[in-house]
Amino acid sequence: MDTAWNFAAGPAVLPPEVLAQAREALSDFNGSGQSVLELPFTGPQFREIIATAEADLRKLLAIPGDYAVLFLQGGASAQFSLVPLNLLGEADHADYVETGYWSRKCIAEAQRFCAVNVAASSAQTGSDRVPNPGGWNVTAGAAYTHITGNETADGVEYPWTPVRLRTPLVADMTSSFLTRPLDVADFGLIYASAQKNIGPAGLTIVVVRRDLLGREQPGIPAVFSYRRQAEAGSMLNTPPTFAVYLAGLAFKWIAAQGGLEAMEERSLRKSAMLYRAIDGSGGFFRCPVLREFRSRVNVCFRLADGLLTDRFVEEAREAGLLNLKGHSKVGGLRASLYNAMPEEGVAALVAFMDDFARRHA
Ligand SMILES: *Cc1c(COP(=O)(O)O)cnc(C)c1O
Repeated sequence: MDTAWNFAAGPAVLPPEVLAQAREALSDFNGSGQSVLELPFTGPQFREIIATAEADLRKLLAIPGDYAVLFLQGGASAQFSLVPLNLLGEADHADYVETGYWSRKCIAEAQRFCAVNVAASSAQTGSDRVPNPGGWNVTAGAAYTHITGNETADGVEYPWTPVRLRTPLVADMTSSFLTRPLDVADFGLIYASAQKNIGPAGLTIVVVRRDLLGREQPGIPAVFSYRRQAEAGSMLNTPPTFAVYLAGLAFKWIAAQGGLEAMEERSLRKSAMLYRAIDGSGGFFRCPVLREFRSRVNVCFRLADGLLTDRFVEEAREAGLLNLKGHSKVGGLRASLYNAMPEEGVAALVAFMDDFARRHA
């Protein structure tokens, strides 16, 4: 295949420059005679890798000093349990906003550890929006309010950050992390798996306000305690060293591209190009999400004739447009436009869609 464009939801496309650097470091890290995979995590070389990655991430997001940055394992799915286990304190419940597949998974997991108040849900309208915060039933005494910043499977994204809640805002930002600037001070805690927008699977980033540390439930495993990992610089045990290294390269790549403002501009241009093709197809393609809440990152759409879906995916694959099948529980089609997807790739997809529509209309 001459050129292949990877629209996978995760693990997903990475910048070629980052992969080239990683390739070199795999055989010889900085002329040390060792692969980056072989560096002991307690040694000076890895300590510098993780310290630089943290400093670069702090700079990208302008993370205030009263927030800790943790490099953990277990994925966002582990945080579904670890958030209540670490933040519940004396409270007996937490508020959750349900906007699609991932928030439902998150709520189901949290219910194993605390009472969950679903403060708002868009299930009745088929997960096509973010419920208006004015109508959220947030409760006094909740430990926190949890949102899913971007619903990767449904293609629904918060166009704003809900503020003026009475409890700390906790956000699963897995699929939109580092795609636009955000004001970290609006949040108590942000978490994101790395394999959507940053690097390889195996790393989960947690940014947490330090005054929320120390509310963990008794008996929590040490490696899952945010407080203990913060005290240990995320090195209570062996961190995912290669994933941290690669994330560090990705942070430098984003900065070199112009930072989060540049990532946001690009994501707006790319997603607008694709939504325009969908909306302009005369009903051949359609996007079920209300315009205001359409994701810039995971564009979910359908064919009016659902029977053509597999054919679309197969013909696209033959044309070098990979991994366009929608999430297995949602169906339809999905194009993930993460930071490393160039506009050229989206233009190729749009050209293919026009051609497919002409041939099958
Ligand atoms: C992919 C994803 C997850 C799950 O991530 P894992 O690393 O597989 O646990 C959770 N939330 C969102 C929003 C996601 O996109």
